[in-house]
Amino acid sequence: MDLKDLYRDVIVDHNRHPRNFGKLDPADAHADGFNPLCGDRLTVYVNLDGENIEEAKFEGSGCAISVASASLLTEAVKGKSRAEVRELFDEVHAVLTQHDANVDPSRLGKLAALSGVREFPARVKCASLCWHTLNAALDRATAPVTTE
Ligand code: ZN
Repeated sequence: MDLKDLYRDVIVDHNRHPRNFGKLDPADAHADGFNPLCGDRLTVYVNLDGENIEEAKFEGSGCAISVASASLLTEAVKGKSRAEVRELFDEVHAVLTQHDANVDPSRLGKLAALSGVREFPARVKCASLCWHTLNAALDRATAPVTTE
């Protein structure tokens, strides 16, 4: 099995069995995200302990990449501070969009599986929707965000 197969398997698994799927109630913050290019709709919920994300969940529907990415995100951000989450998003975004991204794959863990998305530029917004939505929740935005 090469790396591409492994990455594809991670995406398929997280799409079929999304982790942390459902509503967080009560939630300290949540935000809605919509990617009109594909029709992906997500709500991301977080509970915070000071600056740290204590719990993250999501619900919604969309393509395999958007759901798998949100599932991977909720696993990855738990326990991290807002600053660490922003750093992580910068790295994920680099991996999604740049072939020569200067990112240590070991820092990304399972999120490295999203690197396959860069072969499909039209799908980058599917993968990044959950991150934009999380950022909106962290900013306690009340307006829905869109990738447009
Ligand atoms: Zn999509």
